Amino acid sequence: MKKLVDYRPTRAVVNTDAIRSNVGNLKKYLPDRTVVIAVVKADGYGHGAVESARAAFQAGATMAAVATPDEALRLRSDGIQQPILIMGPSPISFIKEATRQNITLTIPGSAWARAAVDELESAKESLHVHVKIDTGMGRIGIRSKQELLELFSILEGTSVIKVEGTFTHFATADEPQHERTAEQFQAFMNLVACFPERPKLVHAANSAAALRFKDYALDAVRFGIGMYGIAPSEFVASELPFQLEPALHLETEITFVKQAKSVEAISYGGTYNAQPGEWIATLPIGYADGLKRNLRGQQVLVRGQRVPIIGTICMDQCMIRLPEYIPEGEPVVLIGKQGAEEITMEEWATRIGTIPYEIAVTIAGRVQRQYFGD
Ligand SMILES: *Cc1c(COP(=O)(O)O)cnc(C)c1O
Repeated sequence: MKKLVDYRPTRAVVNTDAIRSNVGNLKKYLPDRTVVIAVVKADGYGHGAVESARAAFQAGATMAAVATPDEALRLRSDGIQQPILIMGPSPISFIKEATRQNITLTIPGSAWARAAVDELESAKESLHVHVKIDTGMGRIGIRSKQELLELFSILEGTSVIKVEGTFTHFATADEPQHERTAEQFQAFMNLVACFPERPKLVHAANSAAALRFKDYALDAVRFGIGMYGIAPSEFVASELPFQLEPALHLETEITFVKQAKSVEAISYGGTYNAQPGEWIATLPIGYADGLKRNLRGQQVLVRGQRVPIIGTICMDQCMIRLPEYIPEGEPVVLIGKQGAEEITMEEWATRIGTIPYEIAVTIAGRVQRQYFGD
């Protein structure tokens, strides 16, 4: 996997200090008893799971959370020794490996628990689990007191499964209306009260809830998008308790420059006509890198100025219009700051009608990641 040299100037530059600052500021803001679980699923929202987890731990996070067994194993093989929670359902075939690697799994329902108990029948080590409670997300989890009691009757008398935590997930914490989140929180508390013993880690909040509702912080918050310095929604961005610092810059360099001699069609479909005298530059980044085709028209930063992407975005390259001659090798920022200007993932997301989460995870694996920070 590890490349020695990368000859393409297109890179995602991650400032790990920004991650440390976002996690550190959240910790300062939350009650003392609340720990931070760093959510590094999907390769740390495209930022690099291991590097992001390390930065978060340095800033005081105590656990990492991922979505899948493979993501957890990757962290372990890269030397992460802190607790890891897999938040999604894991296949039963992974359970023994989870106990060997000390990876905490999520109980999505009682059928899974029954199968897990069978699987671990003669195991020496026990499995650590968090019980998922579905209070309105409608994805996975226990939905009623009856189901919860059934779960505890399955777990009763076995020492192979240790319930260390329980959690729920909010469906609308990033929206202005607060009622549904309040209802979900109350429903969660009602079910937590039915546990025979209160687990060590009771947690509910994602980034949006952690940043908005201190009252829901409980024992831990699962801090994902905010850790990377991105607001979960425009609404949350408008009421942040502290500044989030974006950690990722997407940069490249001009690889080719030309001046139109006559009216010249640019790119597939010939839908953009450069006028005589216009300076057109080519960038080595395209939709296979995460610069989605419908970002056509989006601006990039050259010498601190916004200039537009013109014509159809190709798989590996795209064209921009320059205000004047600028030579090959000139740095170009697609996401991040240059001079006084800044382009955010939120800006891309708004342009193409999605959320910044999707932009972050769409930056392709072939874009080299570079890290700096103390
Ligand atoms: C992804 C995820 C999170 C993190 O959400 P953010 O909005 O990125 O903070 C928290 N909890 C669960 C269950 C998740 O799947």
